[in-house]
Amino acid sequence: MTEARATTENRRIVVLGGGVAGLAAAIALARRGLPVTVIERDPPPPPGDGFDPFLAWKRRGVPQFRLPHGFSARTRNLLARHAPDVLDRLGADGIEVINLFKRLIPEELWVPSDDDYANLWARRAAFELALRRTAEAQDGIGFVCPAVAAGLAFERTPDGTPRVTGVRLAGGRELPAGLVLDCGGQRTPLPRWLAAEGVHVEADDQDCQTVYFSRYYRFTPDCDLPKTAVATLRGELDGIAYIGFPGDHDTFAICFEGHPGDEDMRLLRHTWAFEAAAAAIPAVAPWVDPANGTPLDDVQIMGGHHNVRRHYVVDGRPLVLGLLPVGDSLCTTNPAYGWGAAMALTYAFAAAEAVGRHGGDLTATALAYENAIASEADAVFRESAAMDRARIYRITGREVPEHDRLEMERQQLILEGLSTNVLLDIELGRAFCRRVNLVGPADAVLGNPELAIRAGRRRDLEPDEAPEPPLGRDELRAVIEAARPAATV
Ligand SMILES: Cc1cc2nc3c(=O)[nH]c(=O)nc-3n(C[C@H](O)[C@H](O)[C@H](O)COP(=O)(O)OP(=O)(O)OC[C@H]3O[C@@H](n4cnc5c(N)ncnc54)[C@H](O)[C@@H]3O)c2cc1C
Repeated sequence: MTEARATTENRRIVVLGGGVAGLAAAIALARRGLPVTVIERDPPPPPGDGFDPFLAWKRRGVPQFRLPHGFSARTRNLLARHAPDVLDRLGADGIEVINLFKRLIPEELWVPSDDDYANLWARRAAFELALRRTAEAQDGIGFVCPAVAAGLAFERTPDGTPRVTGVRLAGGRELPAGLVLDCGGQRTPLPRWLAAEGVHVEADDQDCQTVYFSRYYRFTPDCDLPKTAVATLRGELDGIAYIGFPGDHDTFAICFEGHPGDEDMRLLRHTWAFEAAAAAIPAVAPWVDPANGTPLDDVQIMGGHHNVRRHYVVDGRPLVLGLLPVGDSLCTTNPAYGWGAAMALTYAFAAAEAVGRHGGDLTATALAYENAIASEADAVFRESAAMDRARIYRITGREVPEHDRLEMERQQLILEGLSTNVLLDIELGRAFCRRVNLVGPADAVLGNPELAIRAGRRRDLEPDEAPEPPLGRDELRAVIEAARPAATV
């Protein structure tokens, strides 16, 4: 290899993982004139777009691929700012942008910033496909796919800090890299590889103690339900939440979410139990009625979720040079809050900005990136973990320990003070939208003393009585038992 070629190769940026973060980072880097190679273990999407990739795109590397996703307003807003053509592509594929807040309040009360609360109604497959097609069409991005990254190559700087120089693929080939972005998702192997090199990446970690059971459906041509209402379907059966998710191409999902130790919840993995439970809840029943919705696949299950925040810069020094963690590999939050994709884009665009500014100075790049994302990542981790503890104390009946009382009272404000009917107090409604949509940092709303006082007053004026569950536990068990196929009794 000539010296000139070696320099070019070495400067190439390798993005490990072609999911939400990896694709967005690759697009943003390439648009700064920086050549990028994306390594992705899964095969490329099948041709075409629209309805099919949900079932046809084999995404074993993304276990949540067929689980329901809601794409928050921050997701849409970031794309509008950094990659508007992805939104165009989504639009061309029939994906709707819906602002439920503006639909709920009278037009004369709208203010311009209410436009910030619009969501994308898409399944994960349709959303990711638009990113992928945009990346495929972008000059400067190459895909090595399907290919599994199996390790990193390192050298040591004179002060002994490891510096990543390439990525080794399964099969032995090595891709030299001036910089590697770890976009390997929540199960990234990178911390393990770094440990083998003597680099221990500290992580804050709190088990979400939640499990998801969900199923996607497509509206039948004859369905006359008000389809957008599926987005507001939400309730609880004594610790088991049920939620409706709008999708693209006339699809929607019904999802149950509960504690992994809940025996009744575990039965919902069976299609017969899931359908029986859904049909027994009056608010859910019409959606799963075969006259209105046709199932697209079996019940999808996912548990083992953790809130994780990894720390790659300690005491102002990067642990390793030539490596930036981006997306879930940096920070994962409870999927139930719907913050993951927005934060993946936040980190991806911040990484591209840091690399674009500081180029070959790897220390400056790592510190600029850390500076851009640390407080936001800390905030989403803290808020997601705190909301999880609030839910776990509530559904397990555990007493809130002294050290967590203040934080639990603060979180309670969201449940009882902010989330009341938006029409009762539109400013609190706006604050609620900002919080759930991450329009601003995750802790901004509850960190605003005026809003906290106002939410507290609203709660005291109209204490939120927990609504009666539409189905008691004994009834739920009876419904499931009655549906049990004879062979499994
Ligand atoms: C059940 C569930 C529901 C969710 N719902 C929502 C939601 O409603 N809204 C929301 O915003 N977010 C949601 N999320 C979170 C969202 O899915 C993630 O935050 C987002 O996908 C993170 O993007 P990422 O690129 O970091 O990781 P991923 O999208 O997971 O991508 C990682 C990529 O790396 C590849 N990879 C990994 N290891 C290797 C390797 N060794 N070699 C090559 N390739 C590799 C994988 O194949 C994959 O393509 C949900 C998550 C779960 C688990």
